[in-house]
Amino acid sequence: ISSPVREAAWIELDLRAMQDNMAAIRGRLPQDCAFMAVLKADGYGHGLQATARAATEAGADAIAVGTLREGLLLRESGIRLPILVLTPSDPDKAELAAECQISLPVFSAEGLEEMQNSRRSGRRLNVHLKFDTGMGRFGIRDERELARLLPMLQSGKFALEGVYTHLAAANQADTGFVREQLERFARMRRLVEAAGFTGFIAHFANSAAAIRFPGQALDMVRVGASLFGITPIDGQEAGTPEVPLRPTFSLHTRIVHVKRIECGESVGYDRSYIADSDQWIATLPIGYADGWSRRCRGMPALVNGQWAYGVGNVCMNQTLIRLSEYVPVGTPVTLIGVNGGQSIALREVAEAMGTISQEVLTSLGNRLPRLYT
Ligand code: PLP
Repeated sequence: ISSPVREAAWIELDLRAMQDNMAAIRGRLPQDCAFMAVLKADGYGHGLQATARAATEAGADAIAVGTLREGLLLRESGIRLPILVLTPSDPDKAELAAECQISLPVFSAEGLEEMQNSRRSGRRLNVHLKFDTGMGRFGIRDERELARLLPMLQSGKFALEGVYTHLAAANQADTGFVREQLERFARMRRLVEAAGFTGFIAHFANSAAAIRFPGQALDMVRVGASLFGITPIDGQEAGTPEVPLRPTFSLHTRIVHVKRIECGESVGYDRSYIADSDQWIATLPIGYADGWSRRCRGMPALVNGQWAYGVGNVCMNQTLIRLSEYVPVGTPVTLIGVNGGQSIALREVAEAMGTISQEVLTSLGNRLPRLYT
């Protein structure tokens, strides 16, 4: 815990580890496979601009963001890499995207038509055709829709930069559905080529696919979670033997109050914890309003390398823990990460909360101060 700050609770982010994770994934990809760093949701809670700078420094070829607004923020902060927005934007903003050289996805013939109607300048807007091959979220689903939209791409208002799809189950041991999706994707791609389009790239690989099938990653990978040490592959943790990943995120707070309670006394709402002996209880200034959910009830914490456990319900701004011995106010406490040689993994916290690591990162990421180590 390196924080010199007097924050009540804070997140520490290791962007060097993020860069190392990128290098580890990239190391197994073909030389000519480009690397797109996916930095949506504020860089998976690690800070959009800071992660974009770190990715640029580490040699990323492009950045994907969740919203056009995130893309504009990156342009404003001087990021020059190609940027692709992954979700639909207001078609009226197509002009702004073209002006800022931000690439937009095309999900349907109607969407493209609306963008075409809103275009005023002669500047071409770079687009990537998104195919829904099985994720069932957004995308062009069949040949007829593709045939309707391809002529619009030849209107001179757009430049076809890429075609892509997103895998629904790249994490699962059974690769049957990945193969099905890739076959559909290849078929749609051939139709685009048959219509005379050339010079565009094709991409589909998220973290799991980039790690598991590096040789099949086509022209570019789109990697998010694994930059941040997450291994979205069933049965794997901290990367794989071939692609080890380092954690980038830790969560810390400080004790603001310590007291001794007697056997039979309760703490917290609903009196859901009643002490079965005399014991030390500490109050931590972090609660569900900070993203430390009520589902974190009973979670372990580390205090000077010793285990402590949450007691009672998590409050809006506080959490109570039972200490194994007296510890003074101001002592740092780790909720995710390393403390005194012991560690609590992000994945363990996510599992205890009944969710995945990405949700923990993005729900904690926005509210707490971030410290880059
Ligand atoms: N591509 C698209 C379209 C996505 O929505 C995402 C994120 O879910 C990614 C790539 C990155 O996936 P991952 O975080 O698993 O690398």
